Amino acid sequence: MCVLCPDSTVIHTDKSQPASKSRRSMMGFLGAMPLAAAMATTGVQASTNVPKPQNTLTPDEALARLMAGNERYVSGNSQPVNFANTRAKLTGGQNPYACLLSCADSRVGPEYCFDEGRGDLFVTRVAGNFVTPDILASLEYGTAVLQSPLIMVLGHTSCGAIGAAVSAYTKNTAFPGHIQSLTTALAPAVRQAVTDKSSDLIQASTRINILQNVRLLQESNPLISERVKAGKLKIVGGLYHLDTGRVEMVS
Ligand SMILES: [Zn+2]
Repeated sequence: MCVLCPDSTVIHTDKSQPASKSRRSMMGFLGAMPLAAAMATTGVQASTNVPKPQNTLTPDEALARLMAGNERYVSGNSQPVNFANTRAKLTGGQNPYACLLSCADSRVGPEYCFDEGRGDLFVTRVAGNFVTPDILASLEYGTAVLQSPLIMVLGHTSCGAIGAAVSAYTKNTAFPGHIQSLTTALAPAVRQAVTDKSSDLIQASTRINILQNVRLLQESNPLISERVKAGKLKIVGGLYHLDTGRVEMVS
């Protein structure tokens, strides 16, 4: 089945696959990547000569490191950043220890809020932090090829995209250009919040959207779901609080 289709029973042939454009792009992406990374997709062990060997972690270790970084950020003890001392080393490759699916909001900066540098986080972003075909392909690359052991879906408080989706759902508000596509994508979360009779629709929809997209990724065949089942990959949900900077685990 295709986890990106509203009808979960849909099975696509290659020619009818709605994500075919992305999949073609992905094939080009794979074709352009280093041999060691390409070998990783076939189960052959990747080279251990990685730019940041300290990033080779288990899923639980990766989550602990991510949250420890957030604690430093919240408490004002972020580590000083020196861009020059890792620049050359990272030209040879990357092995980020965590992938993020974050909102595009300018107030949410994953590298800042987890106190990390370049080469540590593989970050995908879209307003409303939901899975699209291209986001999925990117996260497949981050996990199946780069072998990152963790994905966090990162929502945040006072999200404008969620607010727009609630307005579109409850008041039929129309938005210009392509913005309406964001509200359409987020409608399932709002619908669930309405069904649950939540008192604060924006807060509830924000949390439900995180949970729905965590589940969507966990069930995404074949690359991500296989790694989850094998214990090589954990997918969690986080909620970034704009006022404190703290990331609250929601799944
Ligand atoms: Zn947002």
